[in-house]
Amino acid sequence: MNMYSTFQKYLQNELAGIQSAGLYKNERIIVSPQGASIRLSTGQEALNFCANNYLGLSDNKELIEAAKQAMDSRGFGMSSVRFICGTQDLHKQLEAAIAGFFGTEDSILYAACFDANGGVFEPLLNDRDAIISDSLNHASIIDGVRLCKAVRYRYANADMEDLEKQLKLAQSQRFRLIVTDGVFSMDGNVAPMDKIYELAQKYDAMIMVDESHSAGVVGKTGRGTTELFDLRGKVEIITGTLGKSFGGAIGGFTTGKKEIIDMLRQRSRPYLFSNSIPPAITAAGIKMFEIMDRTNELQDKLHANTDYFVEKMKAAGFDIKPTQSSICAVMLYDAKLSQDMAAKLLDRGIYVTGFYYPVVPKDLARIRVQISAGHEKEHLDKCITAFTKTGKELGVIK
Ligand SMILES: *Cc1c(COP(=O)(O)O)cnc(C)c1O
Repeated sequence: MNMYSTFQKYLQNELAGIQSAGLYKNERIIVSPQGASIRLSTGQEALNFCANNYLGLSDNKELIEAAKQAMDSRGFGMSSVRFICGTQDLHKQLEAAIAGFFGTEDSILYAACFDANGGVFEPLLNDRDAIISDSLNHASIIDGVRLCKAVRYRYANADMEDLEKQLKLAQSQRFRLIVTDGVFSMDGNVAPMDKIYELAQKYDAMIMVDESHSAGVVGKTGRGTTELFDLRGKVEIITGTLGKSFGGAIGGFTTGKKEIIDMLRQRSRPYLFSNSIPPAITAAGIKMFEIMDRTNELQDKLHANTDYFVEKMKAAGFDIKPTQSSICAVMLYDAKLSQDMAAKLLDRGIYVTGFYYPVVPKDLARIRVQISAGHEKEHLDKCITAFTKTGKELGVIK
C-alpha cells in the first residue's frame, strides 16, 4: 500500500460524511456575466439575489473599458511582487483613491481582503499586545489573528457589555486593538461603531474595521461605517475588498494611519511574498473610485431598492432581521425549509441561497437576499411575488 491509497480512502470517507450531513457544496455554473439577470449552464435564466454585487458594477461598461485600455497601455501581468518590480503608477493612484474614499492617510493593496486581513496583525502586534475580536468576524480575520502572537480576547457579536468586560481584562497589555466587521454578513447588522469608539476611548484601544460588506453600501454616500457613525479619520485601520461592491473582480486593501500602512509595506507577508494585482484590475479600480466621486446615484438607488424590498417583504408577512445594510435575512428557522424554499424560488427564476447550521446558529436557518443597485423595480417585484407565492405554499406566511 502506498501512502496515497490510504489517504485517498480517508478523504473519500470524509467527503461522504460531508455529503451525508447535507453540507456538501455544489456549485451552480453561470454562463453569462455576473449581473441582476444571469444565465445558468442548464439554460435557465434567473434574477440574481445572492451576489455581493451591491452597486451593480460587476458588468459595468466603464470599468470594462478602463480594464481593456490598461491592458493595452500597461500590459497583462506584473510578474513581480510590489517591492521588487511590481509597482506601476496605477497601483499608487489606486492606493491614493482608496485613502481619498475612506478619508484615511494611506493605503496598501493586496490580492484579496483575505490577504489584507491575513497580513495585518502579525507585523503590528506581538505577545505583549491584545486583540479583542467580535465573535462573528470573518474567517480571514480569525486566520489573521491566529498568525499573530498577541493575546486574544473575544466578545459576543456586537455585545458592548461583553466588549467592555474584555477591554477591562486586557488592560495589562501594551497595545489593544478592537477588531470588527463593519456589516456582519449573515444578519446584515452593522457593528455599533459609535459605542465601540466610546469604549476604545475609555479603555485606551485602537480600532480596526473590515468594511468588505459595508463599503459602497453603508452611509449616505457609501463610505462605510465610519460615515454612518461620523467617525471618518478616527479609526486606525480599515480593511476592504474590491471583490464586492467595488466591481467585484478581485483585490483587497488596508487603509488607515500612515505609519501603520508603512509598516505593513515593510513586514506584511501576503504583500511581500505575493504578486501585484494586474494593471487591468488596478485601472478599473481607479475608474470605480472616479465613479464614486462623480455621483451618488448608485448608492441612492441601492438604498431605495433595499427599503422598498424590506418594506414589501414585511408587509407580505415575512420575518426579516433588522438590517442597516443591503443584506436582508428572511428568517425561516428550519434548515430543510430554507433549502426547499430556495429550490422552489429558483424554479420561479429567483436565485437565492438558504443558510443553516453550522453557517448560522442552529434553528436560525434563513434565506439571505442581497439587494443591488443593478436591480430594477420589476426585478424586485418579481422576487417579492415569488417569495410570497412560495411562502404561502410552504406555510411560511398566511
Ligand atoms: C468577503 C470578505 C472578505 C474577503 O474578501 P476577498 O477580497 O474576497 O478575499 C474579508 N472580510 C469580509 C468581512 C468579507 O465579507
